[in-house]
Amino acid sequence: MKSAVYFADLRTTYSQNLLSKVKGLLDAVGLADKVKKDALVALKLHFGEAGNTAYIRPVFIRKIIDSIRKAGGRPFLTDANTLYVGSRSDSVDHLTTAIQNGFSYAVVGAPLIIADGLRGGMETAVTVGLNRFKKVYIGAEIVRADVIVSAAHFKGHELSGFGGTIKNLGMGCASRKGKLAQHSTVSPKVKRKKCQGCGDCVGYCAHNAISLVDEKARIDAKKCVGCGECIIICPNQAIQIQWDQAIPVFLENMVEYMAGVLKGKEARATFLNFITDVSPACDCYPYNDAPIVADIGIVASNDPVAIDQASADLVNQAEGRKNSSLTKNLKPGKDKFRALYPKVDWEIQLEYAEKIGLGSRDYDLVKI
Ligand code: SF4
Ligand code: SF4
Repeated sequence: MKSAVYFADLRTTYSQNLLSKVKGLLDAVGLADKVKKDALVALKLHFGEAGNTAYIRPVFIRKIIDSIRKAGGRPFLTDANTLYVGSRSDSVDHLTTAIQNGFSYAVVGAPLIIADGLRGGMETAVTVGLNRFKKVYIGAEIVRADVIVSAAHFKGHELSGFGGTIKNLGMGCASRKGKLAQHSTVSPKVKRKKCQGCGDCVGYCAHNAISLVDEKARIDAKKCVGCGECIIICPNQAIQIQWDQAIPVFLENMVEYMAGVLKGKEARATFLNFITDVSPACDCYPYNDAPIVADIGIVASNDPVAIDQASADLVNQAEGRKNSSLTKNLKPGKDKFRALYPKVDWEIQLEYAEKIGLGSRDYDLVKI
């Protein structure tokens, strides 16, 4: 069955600006019907790494917050800490970066809550019973919320071809342990040359998996539970992720994590993709290269698969920008994501999400 994906292009008039179009999209997907009075509504977004400027502008987020409040809900903005060391790897840095990027209460009209706690360990195990995972580990405050609204910046992504709703929810809501489980089958590794033997990680690991051997840290893989917390503890960045997961497996892992995020909230979830500033790579980098296509618009849907399929199609139907990192497939109809990342079959995430019943790749694009 076809799912509706509502589309607002970027044309505006004196009486209809882009902010009113965001409200129109939320009305079209029936957001108000999903928000019971006093419901706690998690608005999941990416605040942007410090230095990146491609993330969704806070004024649009304010508009979504206004609609949630009008429906009777109590919204909060949320994301989970990153696996790698950066400007959002613990809650203190994450909140600081978010506010510096414009997501202060004064602008967005809602508090910010990092879903997985100070260092990414505050998680809830959600039983999914799927092929790759029986349980997935999600930032606790996202699981506890009554309603989830995903606002994703749609762009290219080096591991998944594109990053949209599936990435925003599947990877973005996972705790540090959940993120590590999606990326790797093995424990973090100590780079001996970088290790100074300070012992900080030894005392920190709650599972006694790290010891000092010849003044260098060593991780016992049998004791390690893969929480990933030692990665951000080391002052010398000597403990590193082993990015060993094959792309198709990684994509299926991410989809199963999205199933965990939505479990029990399927009828109380709404998805938006902002197909603007379509940069070639993730907003987790402290920079964003030139957009690969001109700005396209904003889409909203109640189907997390249809919205990503429609967004990918809209980008691929557009003409590629010559002054970007795209060197081929610039013509309308050509696959921009394959041009950027030839080894990534981005369709796998959509095929698998449809296969396990999370949505449909068939959609009707309804212009509002
Ligand atoms: S915290 Fe880093 S530098 Fe210190 S012992 Fe552990 S790995 Fe080595
Ligand atoms: S990943 Fe977690 S359990 Fe494993 S060594 Fe690091 S802190 Fe310990």
